Amino acid sequence: MAHVYFDHNATTPPDERVVAAMLPFFREHYGNASSRHEFGTSARKAVEHAREQVAALIGVEPSQVVFTSGGTEANNLFIKGTAGYLRPGQIAVSAIEHPCVAKPAQELTRTGWKLRKLGVDCDGRLDLDDVDAAFKERAGIVSVMLANNETGIVQDIAAVAEKAHAAGAVMHTDAVQALGKIAVDFKALNVDALTLSAHKIYGPKGVGALVHDKRTSLRPLLAGGGHERGLRSGTENVPAIVGFGAACELAVSRVRDFTSRIAEMRDMLERGLDDRGAVLFSKNARRVPNTSYFAFPGVDGETLVIELDKAGYAVASGAACSSTSTEPSATLLAMGVAPEIARGAVRVSLGHGNTLEQIDAFLRTLDFVLLKLKRLTAIAV
Ligand code: PLP
Repeated sequence: MAHVYFDHNATTPPDERVVAAMLPFFREHYGNASSRHEFGTSARKAVEHAREQVAALIGVEPSQVVFTSGGTEANNLFIKGTAGYLRPGQIAVSAIEHPCVAKPAQELTRTGWKLRKLGVDCDGRLDLDDVDAAFKERAGIVSVMLANNETGIVQDIAAVAEKAHAAGAVMHTDAVQALGKIAVDFKALNVDALTLSAHKIYGPKGVGALVHDKRTSLRPLLAGGGHERGLRSGTENVPAIVGFGAACELAVSRVRDFTSRIAEMRDMLERGLDDRGAVLFSKNARRVPNTSYFAFPGVDGETLVIELDKAGYAVASGAACSSTSTEPSATLLAMGVAPEIARGAVRVSLGHGNTLEQIDAFLRTLDFVLLKLKRLTAIAV
């Protein structure tokens, strides 16, 4: 049975044009980008071209882009790298950050930093009063994600950044889930640093970037040969970086697909979910156009995901890219969702390859699956 892929927030299928751009850098152009000979200089040229492509997508200078092994490393580089330069103070992060922000922020408490979790309302919107209260104390580091991986909610980062700067803090946003889905403009966001990842935008896994205002000081995580202006030692993964650049260039022209066709599919899906009695999370908030996060009261999310997989649909439960546990989603709990509802959470995240026909067929399959699960529960009781 052909599987329909509805899990684009976990990862996206690499675009054929991205793969085609990468292949020569596995084959003929395999040089080390630091080497002085022709093999090396052609690899270096490709890395610098990719840096320009990444920079162009978010409106920065290429020299502001530091390539990393992905979003996880970029977030760690920002938090640990900035803390490496500052006297311990307060680090404020939202209560719904991805673990690769939440955990390094937590780790700083071992070296004298005070962690402040910024609360969200029932739709997952950052509580700006809580932000004001937090920044009464001089805030050293602030990190708030632009779009959430589970609910898709988009935060008003520029407003938070203004408050953060007024409190003397360095402001970062994890834009991994926003890139390619909505316009991401470094200057408009008013941040000092921003994280990107290639595999969420039809690029390869294992490559991303920390983009920063060069006035911010960062201590590198890795000691070594001083690549990436001393901020990320290690021989550059040239094919992956080239693929990242190509994916960024494609993303420029494809954002429109998200705001029109993908949003239309998402709305059709949500009308169908609503008709079937689903609870839709973050329904009333501004979200990226491809994400629906929902639960059917009384239906376990993991079980629903497994049954839908058997029926040919790849969807996610909870925070798919990080969780193997059955604990309810920390994001939903922070939004005040009851644990028994949160345990039912299922996420559908659409992409360029999906169609309205797939949504229609999915809703019909959902009817069968829900009926089957309800019968099973009735027998168990
Ligand atoms: N930040 C967010 C919001 C994510 O959804 C992810 C994805 O899993 C990451 C960071 C981590 O990115 P990467 O998989 O490139 O390490």
